[in-house]
Amino acid sequence: MEQKVGFIGLGIMGKPMSLNLMKAGYSLTVFDLNQESVNAVVNKGAIAASSPKEVAERSDVIITMLPASKHVEQVVLAENGILEGAKEGSVIIDMSSITPDVSRALADQTAKQGVEMLDAPVSGGEPKAIDGTLAIMVGGKEEVFERVLSVLYGMGKDVTLVGQNGCGVTAKLANQIIVNLNIAAMSEALVLAAKAGIDVEKMYKAIRGGLAGSAVLDAKVPMILDRNFVAGGSIAINMKDIGNVMDTAHDIGVPLPLSSQLLEIFHSLKVDGKINDDHGSIVRYYEKLAQVEVKRGINHDEKSESLR
Ligand code: NAD
Repeated sequence: MEQKVGFIGLGIMGKPMSLNLMKAGYSLTVFDLNQESVNAVVNKGAIAASSPKEVAERSDVIITMLPASKHVEQVVLAENGILEGAKEGSVIIDMSSITPDVSRALADQTAKQGVEMLDAPVSGGEPKAIDGTLAIMVGGKEEVFERVLSVLYGMGKDVTLVGQNGCGVTAKLANQIIVNLNIAAMSEALVLAAKAGIDVEKMYKAIRGGLAGSAVLDAKVPMILDRNFVAGGSIAINMKDIGNVMDTAHDIGVPLPLSSQLLEIFHSLKVDGKINDDHGSIVRYYEKLAQVEVKRGINHDEKSESLR
């Protein structure tokens, strides 16, 4: 019998993910504090619930896609939360990017009630959430993972069990270091190229097939050349992740010289009013330092300046 799926958190990521689950044939019960988001998904066939508890009562598998640890704790544990409604044997899949310690603590708590939990954060941002091609990194029991695998493939392409509870969100923290430091390195290079007076678009085409090529380069350079900083993955959300990275790393004795610099860059962008922009905005931090803008064509003024 097909599993009934519940979905809580219908934001930038959760909305397209829930729509893809319905396209895959799952019947969906949804909840979000934002009524507009609920309406958008209900219009495509989902049933609206009045609380996370009601979502859990109606579902075998309950997915959460919420901003941060405190929201997931609240939705799972608070009055009218998932645990009040969840049947024994049901599975909570938390796909939010939260801290490993909170994720493990929640799994311990739900287990006491016979409710299984997986952490299954994602990478790929809004475009891959829409395409249903997210990379999904999972922590939890193998038997539970196998039970919900087809639900996960309704939203993603690469679905990998990394280890026990907490391993998925730990992999996501590592992922966030790699993605955001890549954007920072790329931004430093783009600003150098722009101020040196070379055509940045041609440079991008020249290097993308070589060792500098990456998914980050292909996702972010076109956005920067279009001066499109609409989030996607906002500075706010990535700053939360890098904050979680620092806390987790320092707790286990791992110094992070580059990530700590990145966190300061995020704080600077926040002061500059860019907190809700896409993390491609890291380039604007470097642009301010060098007083140049990365855009299409050759920056003639800057060329003469830099060659003088
Ligand atoms: P978002 O802010 O767009 O969406 C979060 C949704 O949760 C909102 O609709 C909000 O109303 C809802 N919500 C908040 N508290 C709630 C509560 N108590 N009960 C019910 N609903 C509640 O965030 P997003 O960009 O979709 O990100 C969700 C998670 O996915 C975050 O942990 C983020 O770090 C992670 N993530 C985001 C991206 C990205 O590119 N946006 C990529 C990968 C992972």
